[in-house]
Amino acid sequence: MYKHIVNFIQDLYKTKEFIPLHVPAFTGNEKKYVLDTIDSTFVSSIGEYVNRFEKEFAEKIDSKYAIATVNGTSALHIALLLAGVEENTEVITQPLTFIATCNAINYLGAKPHFVDVDKDSMGLSPTILKEHLRKHAIVKNGECYNKITKRKISACVPMHTFGHASRIDEIVAICDTFCIPVVEDAAESLGSLYKNKNLGTFGELGVFSFNGNKIITAGGGGVIVTDNVELAKRAKHLTTTAKVPHRYEYVHDEIGYNYRMPNLNAALLVGQLEKLDFFVQNKRELAKKYENFFKDSSIKFKTEIENCYSNYWLNVLFLENKKERDTFLDYMNDNGIMSRPVWQLMNTMKMFENSQKSPLENSKWLADRIVNIPSSITP
Ligand SMILES: *Cc1c(COP(=O)(O)O)cnc(C)c1O
Repeated sequence: MYKHIVNFIQDLYKTKEFIPLHVPAFTGNEKKYVLDTIDSTFVSSIGEYVNRFEKEFAEKIDSKYAIATVNGTSALHIALLLAGVEENTEVITQPLTFIATCNAINYLGAKPHFVDVDKDSMGLSPTILKEHLRKHAIVKNGECYNKITKRKISACVPMHTFGHASRIDEIVAICDTFCIPVVEDAAESLGSLYKNKNLGTFGELGVFSFNGNKIITAGGGGVIVTDNVELAKRAKHLTTTAKVPHRYEYVHDEIGYNYRMPNLNAALLVGQLEKLDFFVQNKRELAKKYENFFKDSSIKFKTEIENCYSNYWLNVLFLENKKERDTFLDYMNDNGIMSRPVWQLMNTMKMFENSQKSPLENSKWLADRIVNIPSSITP
């Protein structure tokens, strides 16, 4: 029944074999740079590729500073700590996100507080956020408090779902009026723009991931970006065990974290970063083909909202309802085309089921309908 879709995707990838959702491509200098770290023996915590990556990444996305980490989750952990998130405070985020967002909030002893997304952007809704804060939040001495729980609302973490932009300028403006710092979870949206500005650079801090399934990969890796020099210095210090520089003494001036990206991973990543523009271009062309294919179908292909330039990290279809979604998922996966639903909504997980939340109609609507289809670079 979805045979024509299977055929179309097999033609795109020029194969009748199993087609995964997203695989990395190493067609540039990756091998050369990785071998270079092995030849030099500098594979670990010292080496030039980490510094080179941080400099080139910051330039690439027009951020002043970039600090590489072992993965995106650790980057989120430190970014939230630097934003001022503490024990027994609340962090606003969307229920439609990957578990890492909520895990990082909990590592600091804080609680997620869920606000709904917009259907069209799949990202945090500024309209619902504003209404929710007006109703439930109060600002005292430059800090925001939840009127019901009395806890401080210490940060807001919008996430740009599958590479598509949230209305991030509006979100930041609302959070500013409520004295809430914004940490952007841009893990999925490297290379995406909103109003011609790179996602991840709107908030006080932004975070990206270089896990194996992301648009570029370090094997595992992450990065924190900011324009604030003090936060950048603290990020570097905290992610490198808070060691005070010295020729030979081991002095650490606070509790730090061993979150530094190894040079081996950074070498792979420097090679990948050189290919980013090509990847985004290739993925946008693929998205265009999907868009045309589904133009007259009852299955809707997710396109960009106004002012968004998407990296189309994972392509999204909206099925008519949950039943159709499951029929589609079964058919595709039975026929060698990897296809997946969106994550289980965070507010329905047992760890977070008692969290405060706005009405979450849009998230529920999306969770019943979204499927991802193969999105790797096409030959
Ligand atoms: C991938 C991802 C992360 C970070 O993941 P790591 O595997 O720790 O690098 C965080 N948030 C979202 C939304 C993600 O998709």
